[in-house]
Amino acid sequence: MRAGVVDRAGDRARDYHLEHAAGPVLDDLLERTLDRAELLRLIPLSEDSPEARVYIAAARAKAVELAGPSGHISAQIGVDAYPCEGNCLYCGYAAVNSAVNAAATKDALSRELDTDTIVSYSRILGELGVQLISLMTTEDYPIDTLCALAEAVRAHIPSTVRLMANTGEIDLRQAQQLKASGFDMFYHAVRLGEGVITALDPEARRQSIACGKAAGLVLMGGTEPLYEGQSAELLADGILEAAGSRPYYSGLCALHAVEGTRMYHERPVSRARLQYLAALARLATGNETVLGFVGHTKWLNLGFDPRGRHNPVRYEDIQSSFNQTKQQLRADGWLV
Ligand code: SF4
Repeated sequence: MRAGVVDRAGDRARDYHLEHAAGPVLDDLLERTLDRAELLRLIPLSEDSPEARVYIAAARAKAVELAGPSGHISAQIGVDAYPCEGNCLYCGYAAVNSAVNAAATKDALSRELDTDTIVSYSRILGELGVQLISLMTTEDYPIDTLCALAEAVRAHIPSTVRLMANTGEIDLRQAQQLKASGFDMFYHAVRLGEGVITALDPEARRQSIACGKAAGLVLMGGTEPLYEGQSAELLADGILEAAGSRPYYSGLCALHAVEGTRMYHERPVSRARLQYLAALARLATGNETVLGFVGHTKWLNLGFDPRGRHNPVRYEDIQSSFNQTKQQLRADGWLV
């Protein structure tokens, strides 16, 4: 018998096993969440192991149970590119990575998008049908300016599109200001190694999360950046910290190693490893977190980009990115 035939038969047997194994695991994990001891046992397993495949299948089924079978497309607009004192060592805009920052913005007329450009991008995104638009800034971007942007954007997008602030630390008054200006969500997270590979205080990050939620903003959280060599303890605690902030939307993100940054030497986790760890995070996170983790949410990126990507600018290119994202979601089995 040829090897390919054996492999296909093996795949069928494994899929059959999974169908039956995922049931009891899923039933159990819809009722409860993975605890730290389970995460510490599961994280070191190979992402290719039969047990890992059961957890990946269970996480996807749990996501469908909570959010339905539809894919979601969000968009992030990078508002500015000022050297940032947040100094996350992996970020192209960190002040310590000044050479990268200078190179990334050398062709730009300004380090900040103007309001008309942001409104124009947002209008296009709204017409295309994205469900969420995030305005991303560096850590010390003025809240008043961000709120003015939100008011301008809000006037040009459908009311069904969620508007999210991804900015620096906020107190309660600033969070209320963001909410009043038209934002309904905010992204904030205590990153893996916060305070060690960043210059930001984890406690200040937690305070910002509490203030945003107290002001009525819906939280998007997450666990990042993931790269090879991180301990099971660090990952388990990071996953549980994000879960404990009870976000509506969450996920895991691999390190994007930007050439020239202080962390360029680190190796991001593979796609397969990320999928497995995200599955564990889905199963360790409560049912109030509806979106994220399993690939049913995808992002378009516009504007300034601390990861050094060349984002679309023209209408045709934004539309083409949107259509490609839709196709990816469909290819992965999500309805769009
Ligand atoms: S990740 Fe954000 S906070 Fe950190 S350096 Fe970059 S822009 Fe600043």
